[in-house]
Amino acid sequence: MQKLSKIAVLTSGGDAPGMNPCIRAVVRTALYNGLQVVGVRQGYQGLIDNNMYDMNNRSVSNILNLGGTILKTARCLPFRTEEGMELAYKNLKARGIDGLVVIGGDGTFTGALRFSKKFPDIAVIGVPGTIDNDLYGSTYTLGFDTATNTVIEAIDKIRDTADAHDRLFFIEVMGRDSGAIALRAGISCGAEAILLPEKETAIEELIVSLKAGHYNKKSSSIVIVAEGDKHGGVYDIAKAVEKEVKNYDIKVTILGHLQRGGSPSSFDRILGSRLGFAAVNAMIAGKTQQMVGLQANNIVLTSLEEALNQHEFKLEEDLMQMMEILSI
Ligand code: ATP
Repeated sequence: MQKLSKIAVLTSGGDAPGMNPCIRAVVRTALYNGLQVVGVRQGYQGLIDNNMYDMNNRSVSNILNLGGTILKTARCLPFRTEEGMELAYKNLKARGIDGLVVIGGDGTFTGALRFSKKFPDIAVIGVPGTIDNDLYGSTYTLGFDTATNTVIEAIDKIRDTADAHDRLFFIEVMGRDSGAIALRAGISCGAEAILLPEKETAIEELIVSLKAGHYNKKSSSIVIVAEGDKHGGVYDIAKAVEKEVKNYDIKVTILGHLQRGGSPSSFDRILGSRLGFAAVNAMIAGKTQQMVGLQANNIVLTSLEEALNQHEFKLEEDLMQMMEILSI
């Protein structure tokens, strides 16, 4: 493999707090090692549109504290086509780019792996950036910690008003395929129940436990519903429960996109810095088609192939059992 001289960095898919600290680390680690760096705007769309710019140390000043991503992100359909990939390759080659760091989730990695198999002369390293915490090969993904803290802050506030009025709140949090935010926030906020995409919970069971809570003199109850839960949405669940649970006034809150925003937590700033630093160093060491991740507080490389094939993420059963006992 030819010696690396110029790399590009992009953020793709859903934005996640911590992407900016990661971009900063990629840029500064590359420059420190004598590489040139190009920032790609709007994910894969920027590769196709040739929407890129040269970055220097000052391009990433004062961004550690910013949510979102200074490079912008996008969901890009044309990159799924052969023609789109060829155009992206042509634009990268025309700029003399021989390495690409992609920060995103499993869709982003699927695209990166396909691209890299088609054009192996451009090295590709993935950084797990998604609030869903659903990637194999990294115990934590960028943005998960901040998003969970945002959810906790919101639920704590809802608890105040729920308690004042003896109300039962159903709160929908993000996670189409992953209950990671719901579970952590549920434990942290003392939710009475959590409904997750990974686990079937019968509505009848939920009703029994909410009635028991009232019998045990709970003044308010909170049920967290991950958006991917199989019961058809938080409003339907609330309606089904309302028919049977008469003691509480029932309300529904959907937290929505506020979960994506906000200044990255200390954890996400450090994780983003470590992963960005490691991604560039892996590329300098000649690695490609790999994902950098965190396991037992160590940076570990996992092949993109393995990360995607093993993609089935398992929620911690022990945490789920503990949550049920602690919420009695
Ligand atoms: P999140 O987990 O936050 O949703 P993600 O990376 O999984 O992030 P996606 O929208 O699934 O987000 O994927 C991001 C982009 O990756 C897509 O818009 C598309 O450009 C590219 N991509 C996804 N799947 C493929 C594929 N099979 N081939 C080529 N490109 C793909």
